[in-house]
Parts: sequence; C-alpha cells; structure tokens
Amino acid sequence: MGKVVACATVIGATAACAVATVLIHRYVKKSKRWGKAIAILKEFEEKCATPTLKLKQVADAMTVEMHAGLASDGGSKLKMLISFVDNLPTGNEEGLFYALDLGGTNFRVLRVQLGGKDGVVGQEFTEVSIPPNLMVGTSHELFDYIAAELSKFVNEESEDFKVPPGRKRELGFTFSFPVKQTSISSGDLINWTKGFKIDDAVGQDVVAELRKAIERQGLDMNITALVNDTVGTLAGGRHTNKDVIAAVILGTGTNAAYVESAQAIPKWHGDLPKSGEMVINMEWGNFRSSHLPLTEYDYSLDAESLNPGEQTFEKIISGMYLGEIVRRVLYKMAEEAWFFGETVPSKLKVPFILRTPDMSAMHHDSSADLNVVKTKLKEILEISDTSLEVRKVVVALCNIVATRGARLSAAGIVGILKKLGKDTITNGEGQKNVIAMDGGLYEHYTEYRKCLENTLKELLGEGVSDSVIVEHSNDGSGTGAALLAASHSFYLDG
Ligand code: ADP
Ligand code: MG
Repeated sequence: MGKVVACATVIGATAACAVATVLIHRYVKKSKRWGKAIAILKEFEEKCATPTLKLKQVADAMTVEMHAGLASDGGSKLKMLISFVDNLPTGNEEGLFYALDLGGTNFRVLRVQLGGKDGVVGQEFTEVSIPPNLMVGTSHELFDYIAAELSKFVNEESEDFKVPPGRKRELGFTFSFPVKQTSISSGDLINWTKGFKIDDAVGQDVVAELRKAIERQGLDMNITALVNDTVGTLAGGRHTNKDVIAAVILGTGTNAAYVESAQAIPKWHGDLPKSGEMVINMEWGNFRSSHLPLTEYDYSLDAESLNPGEQTFEKIISGMYLGEIVRRVLYKMAEEAWFFGETVPSKLKVPFILRTPDMSAMHHDSSADLNVVKTKLKEILEISDTSLEVRKVVVALCNIVATRGARLSAAGIVGILKKLGKDTITNGEGQKNVIAMDGGLYEHYTEYRKCLENTLKELLGEGVSDSVIVEHSNDGSGTGAALLAASHSFYLDG
C-alpha cells in the first residue's frame, strides 16, 4: 500500500513536473517572443529618436534648402514655388466670392460674403469626399466631378446671393499639389502627391482644366485666383491678424508657405512687387535631409508608394502616413515575434488599413484597461483577446510615431523662422510672429499638437518662444482663397 502510494506520488510528481516543464517551456518561449517584440519596439524607438541637437540640424538643413530652392528652379528638393501672391488681404475686401478647396481626402465648396472692415460676414460650405477611383483616373473625370458639385452648390443657393449686374461670379481655387504658377490665376501641375496619380493632368494648367469642366456644367464663373492650402491659410490668417508670417498645413499631407522679401528671391525675374513681398509655397513635404531619422519601415513604405523617392518629410510627419507606419511595425512584430499569436492576423497585411484618426484614438485612450485600443484592434484588424501588456505596447508605438512627426514639424517651423531671422530676440520688443496652422492632423491629434508646441519652446528657448505664436486658422485655406479671389478680382478699379 505504502509502495503504491509512493509510486503514485512519484507518478504524480513526474506528471506535475512534465506539466511544469511544458508550462515553463511555453513561458520561456512566450517571454522570448515578448522579448523579441519589445526589442523590435526599442530598436524602432532608437531609430526614430529626435534629440534637440538633431532637430537643430534638421532646422538648419531646412534653412539651407530654402536658400537653394529660392536661388534656382531645381536647386533643391524644396521647390520654393512663387505664388504670385504679393498683396495679402488688407481687411477691406468686399463682396460675394466663392472658393473650391481640393486638398486630399475631401473637397469643399464655399460661398463667402466679405463685408470690408466687418470681415467675413457670411459663409456657407459643402464638403464632399473624393471617391478613391477618381484619385487615379483621368483628369476629365476628376474635374467634372468637382465642377458638378460646384454647380449644384451654386444652383441651389437662394436669390439673396447675387453678383452685381454685368459681373460674373468669382472663384478662388485652392489646389493643394505642387503647381508651377504662371500668374495668380494659372499654373501647371508639376506632380501629384497624397495618393493621387492622374497622369494626363501632369504638366497641364489646372485652372484651364477646371474652367473647361465648369463650362461643361453650363456655369458662368471666373477663376480669379489659384492658390494652395498653405497660401490660402496664410491669406486667411493675415486677414484677421497682421502678425501672421507663415502658414503650415498638417492634414492628409503637409506643406508650408511664408512671406518672403521679393529681393531675396534670385529666381524671380519679374518686376519687384509694390509691397516688396512675395508669398512662397515651399512644398516642404518634399524636404529631405541626411539628418532625418528614417527607419526600415519608412524606406519600405516609400518604395511601395505611388511616388517613391518623393515627399520624404510628408511621409514621416503627415496624417496620410502615420497610421500606416504603425501598421508596418506591428506587422513585423506579428511576423517575427508572434506578437498577436502564432499567425499574422490577415488584416494586418493590408496597407493603409490603420488610419491616423484610429491611431490617434488609441494613443489618447485614457481608460485603465485601454478599452479603445482593444476595440480598435478588434474592429479594424480583427485581433481579439489582446492582453493589457500588448495594448500598452501599441500605445507606446503610436507615441513614438506621433512624437517623431510632431518634433520634426516643429524643427521645420524653426527652419522658416531662421530663414527670416526671427529665431533670435533681435526683432523688437513685443513683436509677435504668428504661424497660421491648419489641417485635420493638427486639429484633432491632441498629443501631436502638444508635442509640436512643446518642441517649438524647447528649440527656440524661453525669450524667443514667447514671440512665436501658433494660431489655429480654422478652414483658413477656403476663406483665404475667397479673399485672394477678392483681392485679385477682375472688377477691381485700377
Ligand atoms: P486635407 O488635408 O485632406 O485637406 P484635412 O485638413 O481635413 O484634409 O485633414 C484630414 C486628415 O487629418 C486626415 O487624412 C487624417 O490624416 C487627419 N485626421 C483627421 N482626423 C484626425 C484625428 N481624429 N486624429 C488624427 N488625425 C486626424
Ligand atoms: Mg485641406
């Protein structure tokens, strides 16, 4: 009996020991995988690092490239395009004007009533999303679609909106892709960005294309100004605040524009404008420098994009790409460290499935058990049963990607301030330098915005940073285009 018991004990002990071995084995395997996942995260974090010194180098490189781009066409990856806007709104503009804002994900049609000193006295708009197939179709299809929406908007308006007899309606066209302007109301498309690729439009005058489409709709309208969203935002910002010197867009894509002294533009061969100033559209999304912290994920994202080798800055700081970078890192963790179990979740293989608004929602999740992260992973990537630890890693990853983007955009702004000599405290007591900022990323991604603002302070130091103000210019690009249509109206005296 005693023997049997002893034997059973031994067998029991052996079995228990075997179970323990399996468990330990699994545990070791699991912790090995966990360790590997954390190693991937850590390595990514190191490669994304943006210490102050690096950011200063990026800011300096931005300034250098600005000079090179102003010196000659093709002198830099920064196109530094001349906008032909040499008279920003004064605040005296009056009348009814329209704007059409084609930027990225959506386009907007606006009707703006300008009341002179009273500013914008009325404004209505409609927003329509661009069907993805039109982003890679033909120019005819895209412009017809836009013109049809414009036509609908105009035809549905009340009798109150009348232009004076003998005049046509006037439109400011915000077209936020690189354009070589030939006048304030004409310009040829250089290339597409932000997921658009309509080959037959490249090299064409986009105003002529729009005009033809408007005529096909039977609409009688003048296109008075062609601007991009940064130039529009600058104009809109300046209309309400005289201290606005630059505008930055952080939305689907990213770009910046600023007011330059006309004499500081060697490649400008026209007459010096009366104002002595010219707005430059930097097309800063195409900025590139050896100082940019790029990772294997950025290289593969770029290689697989519609515009490889282009828009390097945009691909690491703007809304179209941040979520996709997160997806790429998660994919590697899933594949090499079984981060989500023994198979790679199939949805995780789909490019651009994780959008930046979802990334931002996860990043901002303040619940103790990270419920938002849990839900997003389940709904978007069909990954269920995630542990709290896994969700914490996802948040950390979002933080790394957003932090790098926000800090680099702050460095870009410092580059502009340097170019203007406004990065030191020499420009007069009480002088304010205002950056008009717009775009869905800046507006909605709070952590990104906070990080950008803190980094500006860090880079400029206390005294100077008090003089630099980032002002959210809500929908400045549309209003700005309408204002520029007004300040360049066909019907202005003289
Ligand atoms: P566009 O740049 O297309 O003219 P917006 O300025 O409205 O349009 O920006 C839209 C972009 O802003 C989206 O593509 C997305 O990347 C980003 N975005 C929108 N909402 C959020 C959000 N809640 N959090 C983070 N990013 C957002
Ligand atoms: Mg926009």
